[in-house]
Amino acid sequence: MFSELPLHNCLQKSLAKLGLEEPTEVQLRGIPLALEGKDLLISAETGSGKTAAYLLPMLHRFLELDAPKSATRGLVLLPTRELARQVFKHFTLLAEFSQLKAGLITGGEDFKYQRSLIRKNPELIIATPGRLLEHLSHNNIDLSDLEVLVLDEADRMLDMGFSEDVLKIAEGSRPERQTLLLSATLKTRGLMTVVKKVLREPTQLLLSGARDQHTSIRQQIVLADDVAHKQKLLFRLLELETYNKAIVFSNTKVQADRLSGLIRYHKFRAGVLHGDMEQDDRNRVMDLMRRDQISILVATDVAARGLDIAGVDLVVNFDMPRSGDEHVHRIGRTGRAGESGLAISLIAASEWNLMSSIERYLRMEFERRDVPGLEGKYKGPAKLKASGKAAGKRKELGRKKSAKSDSESVKKTKLRHRDQKQVGNRRKPSAAPVEKGALGDGLAPFKKRS
Ligand code: AMP
Repeated sequence: MFSELPLHNCLQKSLAKLGLEEPTEVQLRGIPLALEGKDLLISAETGSGKTAAYLLPMLHRFLELDAPKSATRGLVLLPTRELARQVFKHFTLLAEFSQLKAGLITGGEDFKYQRSLIRKNPELIIATPGRLLEHLSHNNIDLSDLEVLVLDEADRMLDMGFSEDVLKIAEGSRPERQTLLLSATLKTRGLMTVVKKVLREPTQLLLSGARDQHTSIRQQIVLADDVAHKQKLLFRLLELETYNKAIVFSNTKVQADRLSGLIRYHKFRAGVLHGDMEQDDRNRVMDLMRRDQISILVATDVAARGLDIAGVDLVVNFDMPRSGDEHVHRIGRTGRAGESGLAISLIAASEWNLMSSIERYLRMEFERRDVPGLEGKYKGPAKLKASGKAAGKRKELGRKKSAKSDSESVKKTKLRHRDQKQVGNRRKPSAAPVEKGALGDGLAPFKKRS
C-alpha cells in the first residue's frame, strides 16, 4: 500500500485522490531506494508506473528539505515533447496539494516565454535535451544546485541521437546530485557509456527487459498480400474489434497521413501524429484523443514513443516495426498498468522474416489470425505450408511460388537492415535473433477475443 511508504502527506493526499492505492513493482522497489538518495539504474517495462516511481521520491525530498534560495532542484529529461508534457501532467496531479512548481521546456514552444518561466524558479524542470541545452548555453538556467537528475526513456534518447546533449547537461549540473536513469532496455548502444559518465555506483533495479512478455497483451498476426489488402484488413478489424481507443502504427509519415485520411473516409473518428506536424497540431490531436473526441490515432514511432493515453486497448501494426524493441514500445501503448490489450500486426511476405525474428527476440509465438472474408493468397513461407500432411501437387506449386517470394523477402529485409545502418545510429538495426526458437507448424484458426 502507498500509505505504508514514507511519503509526505501532500503526496499521500494526491495518491488517494487519484485512487492509487497499491504501488506497482517499480514503485514498491524503486521509491525506498530513491528516498535513500542512491543513484539508480532502472530497466522497467513501458507502462509499469515508472513516472511516479521517480516523481514521488523527488517531490518528497523537495517537500521535506526546504531550499527556497536554490535554483532548479530537479531536472527530468525525456526524448520527445509529448512525453515531457505527459510527465508534466503527472507532476501536476501528484503535486496538487503542495506549493511545488514545475516548468515544461521543450522544442517547438516560444523560447522567450520559456526563459521567463525559468526565471520564476520552479523547483522542477521537465525538458527535452536539445531545448534545455539551448537555455543552458544562454545562461538562462542554473543547474549548480541540482539535487536530482532523471534521464527517462534513456534508450530512446540515445536512439534519437541525444547522447552528447545529455552528457553536456549532466556535466553542467551539480556533481553531488542524485541521478536516476530509466530505460526499457539496457542493451542500447552507448547506454553503458552514459551510465559510467553520469551515474555514481548506481544500484541496479532490473525489473524487466524490453523483451519480457507483456502478459496482459494478446498478440496476433494477420497475413496480407499487399498494401491494398492491408487497408481492407485494417478497416475490417477496426469494425470487428471492440475497443475504446486504437493506435495504428505506420513506418512512414506519408503513409500515416494517407491512412488517417482513409480511415476518416470510412467514417471512423481518427487523427494523425507524426514528426513533421507543427507542435500545436500535435498537441491538438493528443488532446482530442485524451478527451475521447477521436478513438483512432495513426502514428509513426518517434511521435508516439512512450505516449500514455489511458484506455488504448488496440494497437495495429500496419507495417511491422523494424526491431523487437520498437515492437515492444508500440504494443506498450496498450495493456498499461495491468489493463488488457490486443496488438495485431499485418504481415506481408516481405515482413515475414522480420516478424519471425521479433518472435524469436521476444521468445514467443504470435497468434495467427484470419479475417473472415478477407483471406489473402499469401499463407506464409513454404516451410510452414509444406509441413501440412496433405501436401498435394497444388501445394507443391504454391510452395515453389512462395519459396521465391520468401527468398525475395529475405533480400528485402537485408536491404532494409543495410539502409538503416546507413542512417547512422539514429535507428538500431533489426532485433538480433537470440534463440533458435521453433516457429509453429501451421496457422492457428481464427480465435475471437475473449
Ligand atoms: P508510466 O509507466 O509511468 O507511464 O505509467 C503508466 C500508467 O500507469 C499511467 O497512466 C499511470 O497513471 C498509471 N499508474 C501509475 N502508478 C499506478 C499504480 N500504482 N496503480 C495503478 N496505475 C498506476
